[in-house]
Amino acid sequence: MFKEERTESMFDWSMLGDISEGRPNLGPTMNVAVYRLMQFTLRDVLIRDYGVEAAEHILYSAGEEAGRHLYRNVITKKDDLTEFIGELQQVLKDLSIGILRVEAADLKALTFTLTVAEDLDCSGLPICGEEICKYDEGFIQGLLSEHTGRNFLVREIDCWCSGDRVCRFDVKPAA
Ligand SMILES: [Zn+2]
Repeated sequence: MFKEERTESMFDWSMLGDISEGRPNLGPTMNVAVYRLMQFTLRDVLIRDYGVEAAEHILYSAGEEAGRHLYRNVITKKDDLTEFIGELQQVLKDLSIGILRVEAADLKALTFTLTVAEDLDCSGLPICGEEICKYDEGFIQGLLSEHTGRNFLVREIDCWCSGDRVCRFDVKPAA
């Protein structure tokens, strides 16, 4: 039997398919609960079968891949960091991912405090004392890294799940 084993990521934007051809009646959008159903069952099984640390690594890595591919395929303003972030805010809103705000930025040091309100992944979830948005952390790392050519440490410091109303991310260049 053919197995899809690989040691390097093979994801390509074309794997998302031709949605307008494939879903002429249902269209490109669906219920947020369905997205969360997949995400949280996947997260649950990953933690159960591989442990928290490995599960978080997998989710972060997948988010990072997603951020890199979104940058390459959707973002058009690639010459200037401020213009890129402006476009990113619009893209995240248009795709109903969340409302991105830059709370603090040091463009020289490349340190940021970013917030995402109405976050697709966690907004409205029960409070559990965890910052669960590992996928989002990776997503932000992938986007910023693809733009700057640098690697970043992205850490969620507040989350709906830890009792805040927004997800807040601390971003700084990786050593
Ligand atoms: Zn969160």
